[in-house]
Amino acid sequence: MKNAYLQKVFDKVRERDPNQPEFLQAVQEVLESIEPAVEKNPDFEKLGVVERMVEPERVISFRVSWVDDQGKVQVNRGFRVQFNSAIGPYKGGLRLHPSVNLSVIKFLGFEQCFKNSLTGLPIGGGKGGSDFDPKGKSDAEVMRFCQSFMTELSKHIGPFTDVPAGDIGVGAREIGYMYGQYKRLNNDFTGVLTGKGLTYGGSLARTEATGYGLLYFVNEMVKARGESMKGKIVVISGSGNVAIYATEKAMALGAKVVTASDSNGYIYDPNGINLDVVKEIKEVRRGRIKEYAQAVPGSVYTEGPGVWSVKCDIALPCSTQNELNAESAKTLIENGCKYVGEGANMPCTPEAVDLFRENRVYFAPGKAANAGGVATSALEMSQNSMRLSWTFEEVDEKLRKIMENIFKNATEAATEYNDPENLVLGANIAGMLKIAQAMIAHGVAY
Ligand code: GLU
Repeated sequence: MKNAYLQKVFDKVRERDPNQPEFLQAVQEVLESIEPAVEKNPDFEKLGVVERMVEPERVISFRVSWVDDQGKVQVNRGFRVQFNSAIGPYKGGLRLHPSVNLSVIKFLGFEQCFKNSLTGLPIGGGKGGSDFDPKGKSDAEVMRFCQSFMTELSKHIGPFTDVPAGDIGVGAREIGYMYGQYKRLNNDFTGVLTGKGLTYGGSLARTEATGYGLLYFVNEMVKARGESMKGKIVVISGSGNVAIYATEKAMALGAKVVTASDSNGYIYDPNGINLDVVKEIKEVRRGRIKEYAQAVPGSVYTEGPGVWSVKCDIALPCSTQNELNAESAKTLIENGCKYVGEGANMPCTPEAVDLFRENRVYFAPGKAANAGGVATSALEMSQNSMRLSWTFEEVDEKLRKIMENIFKNATEAATEYNDPENLVLGANIAGMLKIAQAMIAHGVAY
């Protein structure tokens, strides 16, 4: 970092939280790229804007005890990080995965602030979750965990305060159990969670939104280079909600998606992934992706993380943080990959992102490219407030326009600094300026 003020801010974060590598990685990426905007706004230093942005407004850590099917008490750790409420109530998902710790939730919460700002909708940034592993748990165990988790979380959230949603390990089932518990405790039927089921206030197209939005965004990048999605070969990692609907929309736009993966290995299907089979395995049976190879002749299952060795024009990491490193980036570049769009949050390591930029691979950071999920959550909040529901087409159309606008705004911000394809710079600056303006307008209490 060349800017002394930003370096000082980063040194302080590192000194305070030396054991939070994911959080430090996310902060470093943002601070490096907002340098030109900070130099243009000398007020930021005097007003401590960046120092305030890197420190969450509130961090809640709590014990989640629950009873397993054997009658034994289990204890997990729950979190909610309420990062920034300058432009709206805290908004962001809940992640249930054994890798969850404070560093992971803080990195996600930090990124969420900029992402939410980019959507143009009035939502602040937050994130939460637990190190509970839903894999292999019975429905009843998941229910008891979710109820216990919400018993504490309910004290800190509200439709005008903080509105959680899903993330890895949290889908319709978990949101349903948590919503039921919130309602039981508060005697209040209100839009306190998003990603709800359609029978109790959910929005049409919310399930599809992150994956569809990613493709609307990538489609803009492809068009900006004078190309089309038709006939493009796409490699997608993951087989959860984001990957499934990214695959669906990529195919609708005329591309061919040839992979799907999970934490055990990946499928290569040269004929194009059969999404009905993936949905049956993942959404209905909650099985493993290797079952695809038994169901679809001509496809191959390979154990391990090698999905990035498959030749493609477009790579869409839709799994988890730091899943695509420098070595994978080199392989993708050697194989002629021209576009990378992050469907997951921070799936590419900083070294991989540098390699993409050096080799003119058009790169879209998650906080821009995967903002469709949270944007549609904000549309769910609007519908709940109005006590109305829009049609699938209405929501999908709004989503498409939001994604096109994010692309336009990030590109304009990047163009101002003579680097139009630098969407990392563009997204961070465009997202940050709006939050900074609101924080300055609100003053400092002293
Ligand atoms: N977990 C998603 C994200 O990373 C969605 C959050 C939401 O809908 O609030 O943006």
